[in-house]
Amino acid sequence: MTETLERFLHGLDAEIRASGDWGRVADYIPELARIDPAQFGIAVVLPGNRLVTAGQADQRFSIQSVSKVFSLACLLGRIGEQVWTRVGREPSGRRFDSILTLEEEQGRPRNPFINAGALVVTDELVAGRRPKEALAEILAFLQAAAEDEDIHIDKAVARSEAETGFRNIALANYLKSFGNLKNAPELTLGTYFHQCAIEMSCVQLARAGRVIAGLPGAPAMLAPVKARRINALMMMCGHYDGSGDFAFRVGLPAKSGVGGGILLIAPGRASVAIWSPGLNGYGNSQMGSYAAERLARETNWSVF
Ligand code: GLN
Repeated sequence: MTETLERFLHGLDAEIRASGDWGRVADYIPELARIDPAQFGIAVVLPGNRLVTAGQADQRFSIQSVSKVFSLACLLGRIGEQVWTRVGREPSGRRFDSILTLEEEQGRPRNPFINAGALVVTDELVAGRRPKEALAEILAFLQAAAEDEDIHIDKAVARSEAETGFRNIALANYLKSFGNLKNAPELTLGTYFHQCAIEMSCVQLARAGRVIAGLPGAPAMLAPVKARRINALMMMCGHYDGSGDFAFRVGLPAKSGVGGGILLIAPGRASVAIWSPGLNGYGNSQMGSYAAERLARETNWSVF
């Protein structure tokens, strides 16, 4: 299995590099706009911690919204089912930063993976303590899940988003107006921008994803029932208004970020991280989505 997979991943890497169809990097965060889209890396962790990689699997990138999987895991550990009093669990069918449904639904975001929902999750993690402590909890979760201390926040990316994150600032203030933000908007926003600015490589992210995949050999950090809930949300909402298309093409729970990362979970079988910074029209990694589709077809890992 490992050798066949290795051969497949190297072939895929070569094919992607030859195609040149990279998509466009996120330009609303200036620090991300400078990144060369023509990059690709993939890491697959199998049961027993067997690792297979190709391309730039050790290159660190901004995990952005992939962090939302782990902030939700932290919060589910902290307050369990109470999470759902402040945020829903339905697909939004809208862009990740849309404000539309928030008005219709009186300030209760559709799900924890769109920006409004992730702001609520972070807000609850911050409540009653300092932002630094909430961030430390998310980082510590990632470090323990990956069994790797060398995971940090890129402060320049956080600053860059804070300077230009007008939509998120609007969303946080809107949530506050509905009474669904406990902290001052700037506290929650500052924490959120820093959590999105965590930098990881594909190898580190795939290792952290082991706890979501429930892989044999993973650190026991997340109750299986919580992992199941997170996987369901990743399947339904992990790619925003492109979630249906992603499920159709790939058939696996996954979470994307505008840094071009995708965490892809084959429950019980594999944790996969893919990175290619050029995005498609939904704001999801263009070549990353393609690689996920090819990998799922090759391995037959689709849950359907
Ligand atoms: N930090 C980004 C934002 O809030 C995360 C969005 C994303 O990765 N889709 O806009």
